[in-house]
Amino acid sequence: MAIVPGSGDAPAQYTLRAGEARLDLNARLGQSLALRHTGAIACTHCGRATKKSFAQGYCYPCFKKLAQCDTCIVKPETCHFDAGTCREPEWAERHCFQPHVVYLANSSGLKVGITRATQMPTRWLDQGAIQALPIMEVDTRQQSGFVEMLFKEQVADRTNWRAMLKGEVEPLDLIAERDRLMASLDSGLAGLRERFGADSLRPLDAAALHFDYPVLEHPQKIVSHNFDKQPEVAGTLLGLKGQYLLLDTGVINLRKFTGYEVRVA
Ligand SMILES: [Zn+2]
Repeated sequence: MAIVPGSGDAPAQYTLRAGEARLDLNARLGQSLALRHTGAIACTHCGRATKKSFAQGYCYPCFKKLAQCDTCIVKPETCHFDAGTCREPEWAERHCFQPHVVYLANSSGLKVGITRATQMPTRWLDQGAIQALPIMEVDTRQQSGFVEMLFKEQVADRTNWRAMLKGEVEPLDLIAERDRLMASLDSGLAGLRERFGADSLRPLDAAALHFDYPVLEHPQKIVSHNFDKQPEVAGTLLGLKGQYLLLDTGVINLRKFTGYEVRVA
């Protein structure tokens, strides 16, 4: 599922890729939608058929072999490239040794996160954030991990997806939150600059971004659909937020089922 920001006052635009077809999901709001998992799962990396999906879309061999499936991607501060044990050093050069951005976002309250500079704003739309503010740029994924660790002393790094889907999220003054956190984490940031170089952590003076999602009605109670348990997911489409489809019969996180062959009606 591809999500792009809406232009002007328009909400985010959702497009579902089903085989060769591209389905404009915003246009289906208020209408019935049925997704049927055929039982086939293809690895998003090698295309091989797999009985089970690992790490949201990979076959088991890829899951064990690819650097992008290593635990250091989720915990970048544990990067082991310098020890010579990176699973794919060339991939790491292209992905980990690239500028990363530390950001604050508001998905279910204030959170801190990191992303490659090229993944903005997709990252925030995927999380269902209603606001985001890039606060710092660094040279590598590992450095962004250390900065994130520091911020996690004071801010969450996870989204409460139930609260996010219920729409129970108050707007925040992200600029004020940034200034408050930067001041209180000052000595920790100085420590990281000592370690990585004076220019390693570069504060950004960006404007806060705001995102709207196409939602007719937020669910009061969250029921989750799961293709592994029930291949047919159908209902009236009431909204789109983050990687979720909100149907009157329950919600489904499509990211979780990356690689699943699905027929849409
Ligand atoms: Zn594979």
